[in-house]
Amino acid sequence: MPLVVTQAIVLHAFDYLETSRVLRLITREAGVQSVLAKGARRTRGRVGTGVDLFAEGEAQIYIKPTRDLHTLGAFDVTSSRAGLALEMSRFTAASALAELALRVAGDEANAAMFNDLSATLDALAAASGDAVLERALAGAWQMIADAGFTPSLDVCASCHAELSRDATVTFSHPAGGALCDDCARLAAVVRKLPASARDTLRRWQAGEVVTGLGAAEGRAHQRLLREFVREHVVSDDRPLRAFAAWESDFGAQPSALRG
Ligand SMILES: [Zn+2]
Repeated sequence: MPLVVTQAIVLHAFDYLETSRVLRLITREAGVQSVLAKGARRTRGRVGTGVDLFAEGEAQIYIKPTRDLHTLGAFDVTSSRAGLALEMSRFTAASALAELALRVAGDEANAAMFNDLSATLDALAAASGDAVLERALAGAWQMIADAGFTPSLDVCASCHAELSRDATVTFSHPAGGALCDDCARLAAVVRKLPASARDTLRRWQAGEVVTGLGAAEGRAHQRLLREFVREHVVSDDRPLRAFAAWESDFGAQPSALRG
């Protein structure tokens, strides 16, 4: 069995039999992989009990070429990100980003996405108040750009006419971005996107963090993100459960999300 040694982040974990766990990891070298961590629930196991949700470290993975479940040889945790479990807003935001990575990354290496997720989780583990949502939105749009999906913001997504930077434009998810007035009249489902919100999206895609959004604009951006992910980024109809919990005022308890 070929051995892959790679930096990895735990995106999902569940118990398996009496002493083991199955982990879904995003790795820098091999994209998203499912691994069996034998003995991970024993304190003296080689993998150890510190390998929990959102933890990052160096993973040794024995790849079984014809199988979907590989074997985790060892996982040296370098960052447990314990701060993510201390505040519900941090946990639900981190869960939404993990869901995004699981649904988007595939088994091809995408170092940019790995690095953006890692940096965002580090920031979330210490963020409070509005910064939690602002940091998570920035990270999500960066990961979407890393995956090769970017909404058209400066030219019409349909006819490619140039759009004035300071205009409120119409945003169409089916069309894949902003529309000029002529094309907007023909579009069925649209949202208004003020110039400031379009500027914010542009800055997120460029890797910036935007502060001072305010609660209402933050929520509008959360909804726009979820709709864009649903329309363009995920290729199936399975519900985005962690996104739903992130958007809800009364998000599910952490134990329910760990499932
Ligand atoms: Zn147009």
